[in-house]
Amino acid sequence: MKRDIYVTQPFLPPLQEFMPYLERIWDSKVLTNCGPFHHQFEEALCAYLDVKHIALFSNATIALITALQALRIGGEVITTPYSFVATTHSLLWNGIKPVFVDIDTRTLNINPARIEAAITPQTTAILPVHCYGHPCDVDAIQKIADTYNLKVIYDAAHAFGVECHCGSVLNHGDLSVLSFHATKVFNTFEGGAIICPDAKTKARIDQLKNFGHAGETNVVATGINGKMSEFNAALGLLQLKHIDAALVKRAQIDAAYRDGLRGVPGITCLGDAGESKRNFAYFPILVDPAYPLARDALNDWLKTQGIHPRRYFYPLISEFPMYRGLPSAGRALLPVATKASSEILCLPIYPDLDMATVARVIELIAHPHTQG
Ligand SMILES: *Cc1c(COP(=O)(O)O)cnc(C)c1O
Repeated sequence: MKRDIYVTQPFLPPLQEFMPYLERIWDSKVLTNCGPFHHQFEEALCAYLDVKHIALFSNATIALITALQALRIGGEVITTPYSFVATTHSLLWNGIKPVFVDIDTRTLNINPARIEAAITPQTTAILPVHCYGHPCDVDAIQKIADTYNLKVIYDAAHAFGVECHCGSVLNHGDLSVLSFHATKVFNTFEGGAIICPDAKTKARIDQLKNFGHAGETNVVATGINGKMSEFNAALGLLQLKHIDAALVKRAQIDAAYRDGLRGVPGITCLGDAGESKRNFAYFPILVDPAYPLARDALNDWLKTQGIHPRRYFYPLISEFPMYRGLPSAGRALLPVATKASSEILCLPIYPDLDMATVARVIELIAHPHTQG
């Protein structure tokens, strides 16, 4: 019997390589509260990602909530409906009103040309997402933010290691938030981080992720517990040794899909970005009316063959009950996002996916219902 193939499979280093790290934790009995592995992992990540300061977190959702707190964001924040729900949940957790604007047809990231019309006197920030790790139009977004004196926080959960025209995409905006969840390109089981531009901002964020403690006897903010444990930090250090090899394998799968699906009518592969360094986190395709099956029918057909793609992102965030009553959530206002969410399918991609399976997925898509 053939094994079922899912959209992703967590990437793990060889277990025996992790044992020395665990022995050090067991010997030192330092389990958390920013111990030696936490410190080392922050330094190693700064070097790998080419960023100045980083604050590790237990996950990206708490990091997003804390990033908004650190910059004292309130009122309204302009964001995208085409993302994972944690993006906007972080706004609601801060009592902020999300304002959705439509996305760009090519990148499926927030469309900068739609942002200006959504700005009101209550607007304090923009929360874009580098969807699938494809960079947002960071220059256009920054220009609007400068003109209207808004902060920019990037949900960079998909964008580990991604570079755009001027180096790491993580250096754009006021803060960027990474996720190291099991399903992401780079994982620490659970984990996240905030990229900070300066030491002062990092110090405030470090305070906020540790209950607002400032020294042994002083508490200066209503902080939360967002600290990454030594276990996760140690795993992260080890994962960093393997990430480049993992990205090479992802790139090979990406290239094979692009090659194999070229010329299949009704199938568009997203994100064939020229000059930027990509991380091949996802392999999103659009299934349009020129394809013989509707997107959901293709999804069902692949499942009968043991292949389990995912409809990231369907439904849109703006369709969920806590968001759909917002004035900006109407489908008519979000035509590009609505269409994309009805056509999107993310195909399996992960370092251990073998090329024979990739070839089989291509074959099944190119010739639906004709294969055994
Ligand atoms: C995964 C993800 C998050 C949440 O990350 P966690 O580390 O699981 O909290 C936030 N935003 C986007 C776009 C994501 O894909």
